[in-house]
Amino acid sequence: MLQAPYPELDDLLEMMGEAGRHLADIEASEGAAGNISVCLRWPIELRTRFPLVEEIELPQAVPELAGATFLVSGSGRRLREIIDEPTANIACIVVNEDGRTGKIYTSHQRRFEHVTSEFNSHLAVHYDQILSSHTNFHAVIHAQPPHLTYLSHIPRYQDESYLNSHLLRWQPETIINLPEGIGFVPFRIPSSPELMAGTLESLRHHRIVVWAKHGAMARSDVSVKRAADRVEYAETAAKYEYLNLSAGEIGEGLSADEIREICETFHVQQSIF
Ligand SMILES: [Zn+2]
Repeated sequence: MLQAPYPELDDLLEMMGEAGRHLADIEASEGAAGNISVCLRWPIELRTRFPLVEEIELPQAVPELAGATFLVSGSGRRLREIIDEPTANIACIVVNEDGRTGKIYTSHQRRFEHVTSEFNSHLAVHYDQILSSHTNFHAVIHAQPPHLTYLSHIPRYQDESYLNSHLLRWQPETIINLPEGIGFVPFRIPSSPELMAGTLESLRHHRIVVWAKHGAMARSDVSVKRAADRVEYAETAAKYEYLNLSAGEIGEGLSADEIREICETFHVQQSIF
């Protein structure tokens, strides 16, 4: 939830750009992989930067979000390039009164045909989170961090409790930033309704989920960069785990007692250790 004064359109575009560049810096968005969207519920002026308007059908009806605005990365666009030319890479969608259709605002610089093909999952997660928390701001990021994704190919890491007890043991900050741990969604075809449903459910209980053999999706109701940080915390944890596997598992990791002590000291509620 954000308090007034709310960020302006240019601020939001800049934050999306910075998050996109950061995800590229940590190698979590090769080529055109990954996508970003934010939902905001205060009135915002779009026409100056995005003068072209068309009607679209939304992937699902979101009646309670009538009037809400989504800023969404374009299909096939590179997250690292948003910062250089946001209007070429981002579309704005405002939900109509009927909740089933919307107006899509784009610019003359637009370099994409449609918004990201994962917009169905983004929209479903925004909708679900906003209905339960009533937040006026929500950010969702899909990225493809390589170590985290690699571990999701190894059967024993496909168990959520094994995944979390092994990844969250390498740095004290990990449990503080991801107290609910990392959710796990079994492999589902990209953009499918099954991936959408699994993601929605898992993000009710976690701030980030792994999409098995594909990547991750993270959310934040504070900022886009906070969502990107969650991808980075999970990827760093996975990188330590990968290092440990490569070194013949000689690292101890923080013990369960040590992690419980960290949580007591910093008042972190968790149920993983
Ligand atoms: Zn992907």
